[in-house]
Amino acid sequence: MGKPTGFLEFERELPKKRSVDERLKDYREIETAPTDSNSKQQAARCMDCGIPFCHNGCPLGNIIPEFNDAVYDENWGLAYEILASTNNFPEFTGRICPAPCEASCVLGINKPPVAIEYIEKSIIEKAFELGLVKPRIPKTRTGKRVAVVGSGPAGMAAAYQLNQAGHSVVLLERADKIGGLVRYGIPDFKLDKGIIDRRMAVMEAEGVEFRTGVNVGVDIKADELQNEFDAVLLTMGSTVPRDVKIAGRQFKGVHFAMEFLSQQNKRVAGIDRVMDHRGVAYPNGEILATDKHVVVIGGGDTGSDCVGTSGRHGAKSVTQIELMPIPPKDRDASTPWPNWPMMLRTSTSHEEGCDRHWSINTKEFIGDENGNLTALKIVDLDWQKDPETGRMQMKEVEGSERTIPCDLAFLAAGFLHPQQEGLLNDLELEFDERGNIKTNGYQSTSNEKIFAAGDCRRGQSLVVWAISEGREAARSVDEYLMGESFLEAKAVSMLNPVFAHA
Ligand SMILES: Cc1cc2nc3c(=O)[nH]c(=O)nc-3n(C[C@H](O)[C@H](O)[C@H](O)COP(=O)(O)OP(=O)(O)OC[C@H]3O[C@@H](n4cnc5c(N)ncnc54)[C@H](O)[C@@H]3O)c2cc1C
Ligand code: SF4
Repeated sequence: MGKPTGFLEFERELPKKRSVDERLKDYREIETAPTDSNSKQQAARCMDCGIPFCHNGCPLGNIIPEFNDAVYDENWGLAYEILASTNNFPEFTGRICPAPCEASCVLGINKPPVAIEYIEKSIIEKAFELGLVKPRIPKTRTGKRVAVVGSGPAGMAAAYQLNQAGHSVVLLERADKIGGLVRYGIPDFKLDKGIIDRRMAVMEAEGVEFRTGVNVGVDIKADELQNEFDAVLLTMGSTVPRDVKIAGRQFKGVHFAMEFLSQQNKRVAGIDRVMDHRGVAYPNGEILATDKHVVVIGGGDTGSDCVGTSGRHGAKSVTQIELMPIPPKDRDASTPWPNWPMMLRTSTSHEEGCDRHWSINTKEFIGDENGNLTALKIVDLDWQKDPETGRMQMKEVEGSERTIPCDLAFLAAGFLHPQQEGLLNDLELEFDERGNIKTNGYQSTSNEKIFAAGDCRRGQSLVVWAISEGREAARSVDEYLMGESFLEAKAVSMLNPVFAHA
């Protein structure tokens, strides 16, 4: 334990943010870089609990009290080794993880929890600064070839691990760049894309082969894939968005959130033609929120990213509406510590200006004679518990129907499942009841050579879960190929881990 009285002496502090006025003028990251003295002070707040609940709260099993201790001692090398033993990409999670570890931190019972995510970001940024993140090139190669399809955090983590085990890994991606939703979903103001490129350079030096612009199932057929590789891991994400199928859906100005967000990230990257979710190309810059009344339908992360992006475009107004009732301001009794709390969350994009409403249903998109969207018809909802089933049921509030001005509507109502037509159907894979790839562990139930991980297996989720799934699936693939695996999905051998087969 770094400082026994640290939690009594120091307040929780989060990374400093640039002012709203300043950050609305650009797409650079909102948070400023951590400082050594702040990180040390925040690490000093850790109580090194006998049973560290934070460790259980993290899907990766990050060994949090140990790295907190090392940061307090300013032993950045040790802190980095401990963190890197469980998390391949702390530079992603240190920026955009909702931090379930902090929700289960023991200090959080009666004080603000330890700022674990901030400390994680400090460690990895310091490690890059000090040149500690060096390529770890496997000493031996197994001669086995593995294809990983889809380069989001699940695919990247799996490729990293399988390469460390000595397999020859090819990461196939249909987009023009590696990174999945971290590249073309999450905006630059939350995560600068140079962060992905920096990590790719390390992985490339370690021996991972990246192939972009390859639509697997079209450019490489299912049969070829199986013949060319000893195992195939699918990490294709949950890419089919939930539609809002109501009257007026055809009006110009109604878009899926991802069309808007990926277009903007590509614009920041200097790319002038973009592809929508159907693979149709159009000139970048077509969807602009400038001087428009924007309504975002859906209250989650994706919706919030549309809010922040619309603000940067200079929208006339930004409104976000959500079907469900407003969550409680504080931790609800139904989700006591150490569970993930059901409560109202205000993102950095909301702070920048947004009119938020809950318990609202969209009834109709209204347009003019030229086919342009001009307004939304909405209605208030009353949510009540059904006394018989105990389930929440919604009822429209009589007389509350009204129209609000809307030139651009973004549908951010979540994602249904991976794209089934094409590769998945050609591989004759089974799907679960939600339409995701059905697996035993991570191995597909219908073809032992095919594995799956991340959002295409568990449904839409979080970056930290994608990394965790990628690591676990890599271990399954390694076992399938070699009969045993030395890969640790969660940390056991903390330092100098042995991954490769002799
Ligand atoms: C707008 C938005 C914001 C989000 N914000 C956060 C956040 O702040 N924090 C957080 O933790 N999570 C966030 N998430 C969720 C998080 O991004 C995902 O859970 C995570 O990226 C899933 O990782 P994945 O590797 O499973 O899939 P993805 O990241 O979806 O990657 C799948 C990849 O597979 C590729 N692919 C698909 N089919 C093929 C094919 N046939 N051939 C080749 N390649 C193919 C796709 O092009 C894509 O690059 C957000 C999601 C969205 C949409
Ligand atoms: S639960 Fe909180 S205080 Fe306890 S070890 Fe983990 S980070 Fe430190």
